[in-house]
Amino acid sequence: MSQALAILKDVFGYHAFRGRQGEIIDHVATGGDCLVLMPTGGGKSLCYQIPALLRQRAGEGVGIVVSPLIALMQDQVAALTEAGVRASVLNSTLTSSEASAVERDLLAGRLEILYVAPERLMTPRFLDLLGRARVGLFAIDEAHCVSQWGHDFRPEYIQLSVLHERFPDVPRIALTATADALTRDEIIERLALDDARVFISSFDRPNIRYRIVEKDNARQQLLAFIKAEHMAADGTHDSGIVYCLSRKKVEDTAEWLQGHGLNALPYHAGMDPGTRQRHQARFREEEGLVMVATIAFGMGIDKPDVRFVAHLDLPKSMEGYYQETGRAGRDGLPANAWMAYGLGDVVQQKRMIDESEADDAFKRVSSSKLDALLGLCETAGCRRVRILAYFNETSEPCGNCDTCLEPPATWDGTREAQMALSCVYRTAQASRVHFGATHLIDVLRGNASEKIKQWGHDKVSTFGIGKDRSVHEWHTVFRQLIAQGWLMIDHGGHGALLLGEGAREVLKGERQIILRRQASKPGKSGERAARGARTDHTADMDADTLANWEALRRWRTEAAREHGVPAYVIFHDATLAELARTAPGSLSDMEGIPGIGASKLERYGQAIVDTLSRV
Ligand code: ADP
Ligand code: ZN
Repeated sequence: MSQALAILKDVFGYHAFRGRQGEIIDHVATGGDCLVLMPTGGGKSLCYQIPALLRQRAGEGVGIVVSPLIALMQDQVAALTEAGVRASVLNSTLTSSEASAVERDLLAGRLEILYVAPERLMTPRFLDLLGRARVGLFAIDEAHCVSQWGHDFRPEYIQLSVLHERFPDVPRIALTATADALTRDEIIERLALDDARVFISSFDRPNIRYRIVEKDNARQQLLAFIKAEHMAADGTHDSGIVYCLSRKKVEDTAEWLQGHGLNALPYHAGMDPGTRQRHQARFREEEGLVMVATIAFGMGIDKPDVRFVAHLDLPKSMEGYYQETGRAGRDGLPANAWMAYGLGDVVQQKRMIDESEADDAFKRVSSSKLDALLGLCETAGCRRVRILAYFNETSEPCGNCDTCLEPPATWDGTREAQMALSCVYRTAQASRVHFGATHLIDVLRGNASEKIKQWGHDKVSTFGIGKDRSVHEWHTVFRQLIAQGWLMIDHGGHGALLLGEGAREVLKGERQIILRRQASKPGKSGERAARGARTDHTADMDADTLANWEALRRWRTEAAREHGVPAYVIFHDATLAELARTAPGSLSDMEGIPGIGASKLERYGQAIVDTLSRV
């Protein structure tokens, strides 16, 4: 264990293990198999990198890492190389002479860590090569790719059980950020990990602040959010991802943000591959870029300094929401997950489910997943408690989500609920079809439009009984009644509402309905919350520190360009900020700053001292 800590400090520049890292490393380094479930950003890489180094140093052989994501492999190898580790990669981007050179290094025992794409690993030729090399461990990253149930299924992953058959004495560590029990069991079965220890970490991401606002003018709200929390006075801004449902909306939104001075780009599966790749590369390399994207964007993006993830449309499920928001703040620094949502989103998602080709069982599951997300949007309690509960984790109110920071007032909405439910009942009774919220609200407010008269709804007993509440207020009532299950959206896709189970009890006055009070003006509460949520490193720097920070940033940009790597591979923002604050005057002063290991100290220490001395 002390050796593992020494490597953590020396090579990676960190001082303590996070969560269960220490245990896992110990287990694998001493030859045990295991399955690691840890959230995105939890620190999975060190769980196999450190054992690989320990085992290679003990003469056991190289650590082989299987990963399906080419961009990610390259980033990892670049970062390891910067840290002084002898790491290489074998995948389809290499020329054959480059690949031969890597293979020679492998056979000669010159490598400490080798990343390999699964399709390459499984070729008879490569397995044979491995048979002639010394292998110290196998790490199987993104292990959920063996799951046929998941979205990331890779057929080659199924064959990975061959590793165990051919190399029974080499320890294996499988890792994933997918939490559910079904996937976990599938990984264990398919990779023949029956005897492996399973390490499950908490899925909480405490540095992410969750916030869900009522949709009013979503784009404007988004812009206000970015300006308030992620933009500096000079107009530069943090890196972030904005998710939209459709390709068209992605393009429109990116263009609109550009029009408002933001460095924003679109990304979706309909774009030509060249442009898509260019945009992805710019996102990795540039320091402040907003990617507006469909969910096609994200897998394989391990940029640590994404400071916010925003949703302009409701995701399909809690799993989706959590995976997408999880791309924020991998470096552990404060980050925001922000979403604007309205009833229209729910109706749209329901329609997509109903109109899909899937069978009824799948549609039912999809609907209940959507309901869970709706519950999150409308909860008056802690968002994090709700999210973690979905993943079977119990927790206390977090103090770092919108409802914790500004608990919404609640009110007794029993009377309004009765009016709404009764209106659903009466209009359906009068016309033998069901109606959507907009129509029902017109009836309640006594708006005698053509459509209302056509249906004869100006004659039903609920016509005009809800005059004293605004359209906006009624919308919030309807949304919450749906979220609480008193109303259901009809299958068939047009947003028609039906009475849910138990609605009868409400109508009979046997149930009290508590609703959350919405901010009277959407966005206002968001701004108030904003002040405490600045994620900008420069927010509380004094003038000297700020000058150091700017000089160091310029130096880092230059160094990154010289080495052909993204800036964060040189140093994370947190390391740079600490350097700016402490302004070390010598290499020995730099000791103890997180993120600076021996190799980086040797490589960049003097340049940092020089840069700071010139400020
Ligand atoms: P994952 O693969 O689980 O998404 P990573 O392995 O990429 O997460 O780690 C996320 C971030 O946390 C990285 O920037 C990494 O440098 C940092 N990190 C991991 N372990 C530690 C630690 N023990 N101390 C400090 N930082 C850590
Ligand atoms: Zn909370």
